[in-house]
Amino acid sequence: MNDSLNQTKQQIAELRRLLEDYNYQYYVQDNPSVPDAEYDRVMRELIALEQAHPEFQSPDSPSQKVGGQALSVFEQVEHRVPMLSLDNVFSDDELKAFEQRIFDRLKNNQALEFSCEPKLDGLAISILYRNGKLVQAATRGDGRVGENVTDNIKTIRSIPLKLRGDNFPAELEVRGEVFMPKAGFEKLNQQQKENGGKVFANPRNAAAGSLRQLDSKITAARPLAFYAYSVGYFEPEDNIASSHFARMMQLKDWGLPVCPVIKKVTGCQQLAEYYQWIGEQRNSLAYEIDGVVYKVDSIELQQTLGFVARAPRWATAHKFPAQEEITQLLDVEFQVGRTGAITPVARLQPVSVGGVTVSNATLHNADEIERLQIKIGDTVIIRRAGDVIPQIVSVVEEKRDDAELTDIVFPTECPVCGSHVERIENEAVTRCSGGLICGAQLKESIKHFASRKALDVDGLGNKLVEAFVDLEMIKTPADLFKLTAEQIAQMERMGQKSAENLVNALEKAKQTTLAKFLYSLGIREVGEATANNLALHFKTLDAVQTANFEQLIEVNDVGQVVAEHIVSFFAEAHNQTVIEDLLAAGINWPQIEVVSADEQPLKDKIFVLTGTLSTMGRNDAKAYLQGLGAKVTGSVSAKTDYLVAGESAGSKLTKAQDLGIEILTEDDLTALLTEHGVL
Ligand code: NAD
Repeated sequence: MNDSLNQTKQQIAELRRLLEDYNYQYYVQDNPSVPDAEYDRVMRELIALEQAHPEFQSPDSPSQKVGGQALSVFEQVEHRVPMLSLDNVFSDDELKAFEQRIFDRLKNNQALEFSCEPKLDGLAISILYRNGKLVQAATRGDGRVGENVTDNIKTIRSIPLKLRGDNFPAELEVRGEVFMPKAGFEKLNQQQKENGGKVFANPRNAAAGSLRQLDSKITAARPLAFYAYSVGYFEPEDNIASSHFARMMQLKDWGLPVCPVIKKVTGCQQLAEYYQWIGEQRNSLAYEIDGVVYKVDSIELQQTLGFVARAPRWATAHKFPAQEEITQLLDVEFQVGRTGAITPVARLQPVSVGGVTVSNATLHNADEIERLQIKIGDTVIIRRAGDVIPQIVSVVEEKRDDAELTDIVFPTECPVCGSHVERIENEAVTRCSGGLICGAQLKESIKHFASRKALDVDGLGNKLVEAFVDLEMIKTPADLFKLTAEQIAQMERMGQKSAENLVNALEKAKQTTLAKFLYSLGIREVGEATANNLALHFKTLDAVQTANFEQLIEVNDVGQVVAEHIVSFFAEAHNQTVIEDLLAAGINWPQIEVVSADEQPLKDKIFVLTGTLSTMGRNDAKAYLQGLGAKVTGSVSAKTDYLVAGESAGSKLTKAQDLGIEILTEDDLTALLTEHGVL
């Protein structure tokens, strides 16, 4: 053998070895190591080489085989009619060639009828009904021998244990796809993440992994569904239809679910139209599909056309462009969002996914980096589905070269403003703590600062704030008070008069309350009610600023997470500087009178809140009342002093009326809170 032939032989062996590895990971472990697009490329390369060199053909080649071997932990089931795979076409030209091959074989160019169906992305199952009763179910396995999964299949609700009617064949083998609808898949992966279990790469693997369980209770808990797509073995032959589409309608009559968008068409042009039509619906379908399948409708013609090694000649899958691709992680950058959340963004070696070049993907947060065990330099699988931001699905471990890898290090300082970053225990998100100065958060923090419930600066609209920040006229909230009427008048759509009005409004806003000031700082999770409670509890800004964690959690309505946010906010030197600047600009508030606990106006009064409050959240109402010394409980009893009844109050209101408890409307509550200086 000459050198070049030898080389080809080795190349073929290498491709076969690769594909066998991929098959094992995919079919046996339900855990693919590379995206389908990569698998398909390698397969095509192998087929091209084998076709060019028929002398190296072998029945053992992955190009000639179906699926993977059945797992020996399951009982084995021999299929009476082999379960084959499908050939693929990826373009209109390949589709035309598929039709032409059929014409050539049939020696007839007349347009044919086809049944068109979505290509469901799950796994093939054979279900045997004897006298209308489900007696056996098996996976496809290697096409000849599958795994007995009868108990597991019986847990899938959409699969009937008994057929309807009485005109079905005594022996009927139904074939179809078990799949996991998208919503169920998302939920399952979320649960798996929370419980530290295996996260599935895609709904197909989740369906296969869920079905191939030794304990059928696990399968029963998984959201699996089924659509029938063909008839396998049957006996006797009398009652079965002679076209594929008609058979599908029979299966439906017998109680088996059949995909509702199945359609009968004529000729290649209508196949392409069907492909287009399903493609438009793809994102809104409840289940994942990776293409459509065309089947010659006449069973007689199907039999004439027959099979090649691993697939029928009378059917083909028209695949959608791949949604997953393989590429390299070049670097990770950290972006700061409007709320200070720091998100790691993967910079990728640009790659085309479904016709769009992808060079960035989100890595979400530190937990995700940990879960993926990903490093800079890794080869990764990325996924871009619909309009969703591209995601990194997994790392291709086989392609890892440790020498070339760098760890991803989360910054300890905000990449935009240099403030320290905080990560609260049990929270996935890492945040910048420089709320008042961070450029990334500035627009939002100034809008909040000036909003009605905070410093209430009249005439400072969102557009104006954005323009001030964009023109770098303000870099912190304190800079607002340095603006002159002349500067403001130069802004778009601002006359001299409105500029003067704004300066006056800013002057007026300086006179505020401690609660409003605390709220205006935009400390995470410190809403109006919490700010109010902090003010009532500590009385002075200095006391709030210097309070430690233990002192903070003493305050009504302040839990551990809020306390940590407060400590972290005041620990940031940049924030302290802005507060000093604000005070220097003249912001002031009346001193809060020191009221001892005994003098709290609602001391020991028991309140129950029910129904919807339209002007404040129930939690806020609760916190306000607690701030005045009241106790707020969940159920009405004889000890209840007041029931606050919002919109659509139900049984609690009736009970309180029965017990003769005083009922307050939302207006009464607002009046009460105003009277005590809370609102
Ligand atoms: P296939 O998935 O391309 O097509 C055949 C299968 O389609 C059938 O067995 C059936 O389960 C399914 N199907 C869905 N809807 C159908 C319908 N309406 N009618 C008939 N069948 C329908 O073929 P395959 O042999 O299961 O798998 C090969 C493909 O799997 C490859 O092209 C590749 O994309 C992927 N794969 C990927 C890896 C990997 O490592 N990523 C490994 C092996 C296989």
